[in-house]
Amino acid sequence: MSGKPPPVLISESDIEKRVTELAIQISGDYQDKGDLVLVGVLKGAFVFLADLSRRMTIPRTIEFIAVSSYQSGSLSSGAVRLVMDVRGSIEGRHVLIVEDIVDTGHTLKYLIGMLQSHRPASIRTCTLLHKADSAEVDIDIDYIGFSIGDEWVVGYGLDYAEHDRTLPYIGTVTPTD
Ligand code: 5GP
Repeated sequence: MSGKPPPVLISESDIEKRVTELAIQISGDYQDKGDLVLVGVLKGAFVFLADLSRRMTIPRTIEFIAVSSYQSGSLSSGAVRLVMDVRGSIEGRHVLIVEDIVDTGHTLKYLIGMLQSHRPASIRTCTLLHKADSAEVDIDIDYIGFSIGDEWVVGYGLDYAEHDRTLPYIGTVTPTD
């Protein structure tokens, strides 16, 4: 890891603008549906979830879920593994999964199936970033912040081997593994 900050792919102000747009759109879509459970996927989505949830205008509660789909660095470990389930009951409630990034789609597909077993009223999906060209499974993503190319991104919650998670913008790094 060199001392140089990663080059900017998406600036702090562009993120702020887009997250506000998403919060307005989601609030509109759910305004007559009662409370919405936002399920943030740890660790990467914690910053996005914090900003998105604070800009929403409808009743909402926060849950977290943790999965492990990659070893440290950028190499895939293969299967998705549940590390932490939601704590509160989501049965009969509207759920929005909040992801940092969807790459192949395997993680989100697993999460939808897993959360469906808790029998929510509905499940929708929201991701800040989408690597559209990398999709390997067919899943519906209801809300997408930005579509990006096939490059490794860091910042705004996303890491590379635990580095650069707290950068205020989305930058790119070249993985060495
Ligand atoms: P998928 O199962 O869609 O291939 O991968 C989803 C997960 O891979 C994300 O939740 C994230 O943890 C990780 N991931 C995929 N691409 C990137 C990337 O460019 N940067 C970071 N930091 N994580 C990524």
